[in-house]
Amino acid sequence: MLLKRYRRRRLRARELPPDWRRVLERNFLHYRLLPPDDLRELQGHIQVFLAEKRFFGGAGLEVTDEMRVTVAAYASLLLLHRETDYFPQMRTVVLYPAEYLAPYREQDPSGVVIEGYQVRSGEAWQRGPVVLSWEAVLRDSARGRGCRHVVIHEFAHQLDYESGGAEGTPAIAGRVPQDEWTRVMNAEYRRLRRTALLGRPTLLDRYGTTSPTEFFAVAVEAFFMCPQELHRRHPELYGALRAFFRQDPARDWSPAPGTDAWG
Ligand SMILES: [Zn+2]
Repeated sequence: MLLKRYRRRRLRARELPPDWRRVLERNFLHYRLLPPDDLRELQGHIQVFLAEKRFFGGAGLEVTDEMRVTVAAYASLLLLHRETDYFPQMRTVVLYPAEYLAPYREQDPSGVVIEGYQVRSGEAWQRGPVVLSWEAVLRDSARGRGCRHVVIHEFAHQLDYESGGAEGTPAIAGRVPQDEWTRVMNAEYRRLRRTALLGRPTLLDRYGTTSPTEFFAVAVEAFFMCPQELHRRHPELYGALRAFFRQDPARDWSPAPGTDAWG
């Protein structure tokens, strides 16, 4: 443990190679938004992340430094401002060139099993890898593309898994009172389902209506991609996430990276 901490401290102190910095300038929307202290902290996290996680290419993809640095940067946004163990259950990132087909099996409440294949842009396994479509990563890293980001989404799942399950309740010890967290998340989840059912426009992606764990991941995407809008339209949800992440992007970043005003 001591050795690990020492090694990580040394990695964090390293200067980022100029090539990697250019990748951040090009692909990392938050590069010009983060306050200098946060950017320094983030660059340290990128070093640790890339030293500890292994990347594999699927479907013949050759993984480049651009891919590794881009994924590490968005994942590291979720780690700022707190003691972190760098997604300890996840050691591997698998990248596909584009959306990919994954086998799918679901049982509905009456016991009927539906099997088939599903097109995916990413997934996060409990005690397993994060899988991503590089095309989707680049698409979500373009300006003004809205409140979604596949890397933020999948690593939000990894935070959720750290608490032992996938219920949309990450380990929040000491950051937010548990009953307050549960109240806000349940209320906002129900609100999104109701609004989606009525066919009204939603800020949060409707994929969040699938389950509490997907709701959490979608809310985290909006927190980092459209913080001002999330703050304005869902102040309680924003407040819970601000306390959890110990970051206040609606106050500190302007304008938000997911909006047309950005850039
Ligand atoms: Zn998901």
